[in-house]
Amino acid sequence: MPTESDLLDSNQAMKTKTVTTPAIKRIALVAHDNMKDRLLHWVAKHIAAIRLHTLFATGTTGNRLEKELDLQVNKLLSGPLGGDQQIGTMIATQEIDLLIFFWDPLQAQPHDPDVKALLRLAAVWNIPVACTPATADFFITSSLLGQPFDREIPDYEVYATLRNQ
Ligand code: PGA
Repeated sequence: MPTESDLLDSNQAMKTKTVTTPAIKRIALVAHDNMKDRLLHWVAKHIAAIRLHTLFATGTTGNRLEKELDLQVNKLLSGPLGGDQQIGTMIATQEIDLLIFFWDPLQAQPHDPDVKALLRLAAVWNIPVACTPATADFFITSSLLGQPFDREIPDYEVYATLRNQ
């Protein structure tokens, strides 16, 4: 059995490994209702660059991206109905490389626990996250976007071994 301090050590200094993110990124796009126009505007501004990547979105955001900008989007459930959690799962299983999430800083959301969980998983799995159009501008103009990118992620095998001792 690991001691409590072993587990604490394993939590505080998670062992990591490197994964290589593909050149064509799998980008998740999510916007709360009051932020959807801003996201649509931002995507329209960068549409040529965005089109080069594989897009995923929560339901309503995805519908608008398809209808108004003629983009091909893999749509998940609407955020409040589980879409945020679906994206969180895809981040944890290395199926999303980048998250653009314009959450609403001025209005409480009924699915706030899901919002927090999504942002937390993005941090756990060390994916780039843009929560404002300005940050997203940095993303889209980064030379790292169009090439394979190495990032550190938790090494689950080491973590599980420690927990199961
Ligand atoms: P929606 O979900 O795109 O279905 O509106 C976004 C969210 O609120 O998480």
